[in-house]
Amino acid sequence: MKSKDFQFKVGSRVNLKEFPTDDTGSFDGPEEASPVLEKKLGRIADLQERLYAEGKQALLIILQGMDTSGKDGATKSVMRDVNPQGVEVTSFKVPSKEELGHDFLWRVEKRIPARGMIGVFNRSHYEDVLVVRVHDLVPKEVWSRRFDLINDFEARLDREYCRVVKIFLHISKDEQKERLEDRLKDRTKLWKFNPADLSERKLWSAYRDAYEDALSKCNTEHAPWHIVPADKKWFRNVVVADIVEEALEDMDPKFPKVDFDPRAVKIE
Ligand code: ADP
Repeated sequence: MKSKDFQFKVGSRVNLKEFPTDDTGSFDGPEEASPVLEKKLGRIADLQERLYAEGKQALLIILQGMDTSGKDGATKSVMRDVNPQGVEVTSFKVPSKEELGHDFLWRVEKRIPARGMIGVFNRSHYEDVLVVRVHDLVPKEVWSRRFDLINDFEARLDREYCRVVKIFLHISKDEQKERLEDRLKDRTKLWKFNPADLSERKLWSAYRDAYEDALSKCNTEHAPWHIVPADKKWFRNVVVADIVEEALEDMDPKFPKVDFDPRAVKIE
């Protein structure tokens, strides 16, 4: 499995119907994937320690997907073994009055991970070309200009010190129905059920169009999108872990060199 398997050609137009939601790669089932995931989580923890110690680069993981696609679940699973001190998760909600008083990237800028850190965005600046577009919250001439602004913003991060990894969790409409029904049946999941999700579900095809545009227009060499089949939670987790592991491997963080000889240090 390679993270490239979940990318698509820069400049090409995405048709989400052509991307499977229920693929499980070469795995027969969760039992087979579980040891692979464990190994990846161990490696991610090791690389994160180096990233933190090195203090020169950062990794930003952007998670997007329809309601119930598993943004929370993927975060919980893939960040399970890392030192919490080195990770910051931000869930972007409906913007506050203060946030709306600024440009759409203002609140996002403040949450960019610092050197040494991993940042996870559960929703992101992409909401400003998705929900904002579907609900006509700003005119078309405003949201349509944002694709270029997003590409420039992400290029800046990449050129400075922050690797940007973008993941779209791709679920089917049927799978969403099951997940919403599960929330209604399970007392411990009921709090997650939001009646507003039902009106959003009615806008499925409008969201799909908006996603296809955002994925196509903001798929760049410096910040490529990954489309991850997310109907099977266990497969989603192993793929997301793989993408994160590969990005960290490629960044190759190193423990810093010290300017003293540890053997010469005597502790009384
Ligand atoms: P979850 O992310 O778990 O679904 P909520 O149920 O609180 O959390 O949903 C957050 C809501 O905030 C979503 O409906 C999302 O579309 C909305 N949201 C996020 N960013 C923006 C934005 N920039 N403009 C308008 N709505 C937004």
